[in-house]
Amino acid sequence: MSRIAFDNSYARLPPRFFASVEPTAVSAPRLIKLNEALATELGLDPAWLSSPQGVAMLAGNSLVEGAMPIATAYAGHQFGGFNPQLGDGRAILLGEVVDREGRRRDIQLKGAGPTPFSRRGDGRAALGPVLREYIVGEAMAALGIPTTRALAAVRTGDWVRRERPLPGAILTRVAASHIRIGTFQFFAARGDAEGLRVLADHAIARHYPDCADNEAPYLRLLEAVIAAQAALVGQWLLIGFIHGVMNTDNMSIAGETIDYGPCAFMDSYDAGTVFSSIDEHGRYAYGNQSAIARWNLTRFAEALLPLLAEDVDQAIPIAQAALDRFEPLFQRGLVTGFRRKLGLATEEPEDIELIRTLLETMQRGKADFTLTFRRLGQDTTSLADGEACRDLFETPAEFDGWESRWRQRLQKEALAAEAEARRAAMRSVNPLFISRNHRIEAVIQAAEERDDLAPFEELLSVLARPYEEQPGRESYALPPAAHERVLATFCGT
Ligand code: AMP
Ligand code: MG
Repeated sequence: MSRIAFDNSYARLPPRFFASVEPTAVSAPRLIKLNEALATELGLDPAWLSSPQGVAMLAGNSLVEGAMPIATAYAGHQFGGFNPQLGDGRAILLGEVVDREGRRRDIQLKGAGPTPFSRRGDGRAALGPVLREYIVGEAMAALGIPTTRALAAVRTGDWVRRERPLPGAILTRVAASHIRIGTFQFFAARGDAEGLRVLADHAIARHYPDCADNEAPYLRLLEAVIAAQAALVGQWLLIGFIHGVMNTDNMSIAGETIDYGPCAFMDSYDAGTVFSSIDEHGRYAYGNQSAIARWNLTRFAEALLPLLAEDVDQAIPIAQAALDRFEPLFQRGLVTGFRRKLGLATEEPEDIELIRTLLETMQRGKADFTLTFRRLGQDTTSLADGEACRDLFETPAEFDGWESRWRQRLQKEALAAEAEARRAAMRSVNPLFISRNHRIEAVIQAAEERDDLAPFEELLSVLARPYEEQPGRESYALPPAAHERVLATFCGT
């Protein structure tokens, strides 16, 4: 009996969409973590997945019936330069399942060995980046942000060679699909109009079925992806997330956050924040992310041009009009989100200025982004020393000036009389716990150096309830001390 009811729609696409390739076996598979709740959501049996046969599958040592392992083909702009052939060089899609809600989900092993797209890479992943992707992806999910998920992590028992030898691991990634902007670019770059159309039809059927009946389905697809990514990047900004490698091959058509490499959450607010060690020019800085998303979507629109009209001259203005919708959509989502974060249920013209001034004050005062919003929503009647919002600022007087303007603005709220209701609403959108970089580094260090996974488990458990106070775990909310600060994150998954 098959253990997993695979139904592999991508593997039924034409052969040039992928390469069939089996995972390469590893020496000593050992389960690090199984996401039991997600397994259940997918209709999989957690007990079987953590059995020796299940772990063998998660390590790529055995295939279960119904799997059709493939590496997908894609291209992409990396830091602005186009590469016509990237593809899954260290990831193998086992297949798709339809989850309990009827949604189709990819099950992919990341780090399962070389594929025809590996170029000079080894097709493997190191333990640290696997733990990082597991933690940040699950934290994003708990925050309510569209994201790929982690179903499991296993150790391989092998070493991978990076700057130094590191323990190897494999992440089982679950995604609505792994179709990227770069997947469309792959066919566009080859002048393969038929491939492009097949891919677009597949993406529509899978992610945006409402577009199918339209007289201009491909334009509707473009608009839907623009809307999804505008919303996604707005949500990133609202929680201080920096993706780090927004190359077009790392932007999902489904609008999920994908490919957690050198990503990080900001501690103190600075729109110019960059963590990625390979992002020398700050292309993917926090405050650049919407401009980059729009740039990437322009590459998507370019790839789609042959599908938008008979000839390119007709197609360009159509694509342009669709792209012009990005900025207003993005701004709308961002301002709506910041209003919620400030406890504003109504709209006033002055709000935009109020938001901008807070951010500027935070930047000058080096205030912690997450804690500033959280503390704005706290009951200030019985605060201990150092617990006030102003204490987060190096320039508390400047914050005081902003705060009195904000309190005046709150007077215009219908909820003015119900302060506690407003504070509760604010707590539900302003997390207390984010996956802070120094915590992730500590988790990785414990796992690498002492084979100790307790810090990993503890951090995951804290981040599963980001909006709730968790007595005894207060320290997880704190920004890093000076000596704990992480200045750069590394890609080398
Ligand atoms: P990323 O920077 O993770 O988005 O990856 C960019 C490209 O490099 C993709 O085509 C990956 O499959 C490929 N790649 C990254 N690391 C490896 C590796 N260790 N082995 C083979 N291919 C890799
Ligand atoms: Mg990638």
